[in-house]
Amino acid sequence: MTATILVVEDEHAVARGIEYALAQEGYAVTVARSGEEGLEYASHQAPDLVVLDVRLPGMDGFEVLRRLRGTGAKMPVLVLTARDDEVDKVIGLELGADDYLTKPFGLRELMSRIRALLRRAYGDLANAAGGRVIRHRDLVIDLERRRVQRGGRRIGLTPTEFEILRHLASRPGRVYSRGELLELLRDYEALDQDEKTINVHVSHLREKIEDDPSQPVFVLTVRGAGYAFADR
Ligand code: CA
Repeated sequence: MTATILVVEDEHAVARGIEYALAQEGYAVTVARSGEEGLEYASHQAPDLVVLDVRLPGMDGFEVLRRLRGTGAKMPVLVLTARDDEVDKVIGLELGADDYLTKPFGLRELMSRIRALLRRAYGDLANAAGGRVIRHRDLVIDLERRRVQRGGRRIGLTPTEFEILRHLASRPGRVYSRGELLELLRDYEALDQDEKTINVHVSHLREKIEDDPSQPVFVLTVRGAGYAFADR
């Protein structure tokens, strides 16, 4: 599993060092230079882990973490602090940080913390067993962790895209009309939208999971009826 990691840090040298060390370990890394940028990315791309500096221009790390947890995001977050009073705040406020390191820290220490957090949070997705994982070709849908992989690579889906995929893939070959999918999604999030919205979400979903979205092999269009996940 190639874990995706977001580093939120405005100090160029620190960010570069962390980015380099993570890339050496084989992680896919994205760097955000401000709290706002980090929050935006973390909320929409759902990285596997976030390294979050407390001191950022504008929205600070505490606020980013508070808002991120407010969206229901559960990925591990490792907070970088500069002083003891920030450590106290990380612990005392119970903002949902999973670990922290005080600057200056060694990159080796950071890597070992990150490995431990990833292991604790995800184990090895490829080995996940039981009915909570749906596989078709090289697509792996982990229903419990709400994660999708293709060919060992993590695919970041929005909650709506995941729900559509989950419903379709849970019953391969079963055709769902757009209205039906919309009803199912209404239970999940307040979608005050019409059936065309489903087409847009399916189109985004295909762009992420299909090799050629115009020739889908997973999420199929059933003309005049709706969508179905490919039957074996
Ligand atoms: Ca900083």
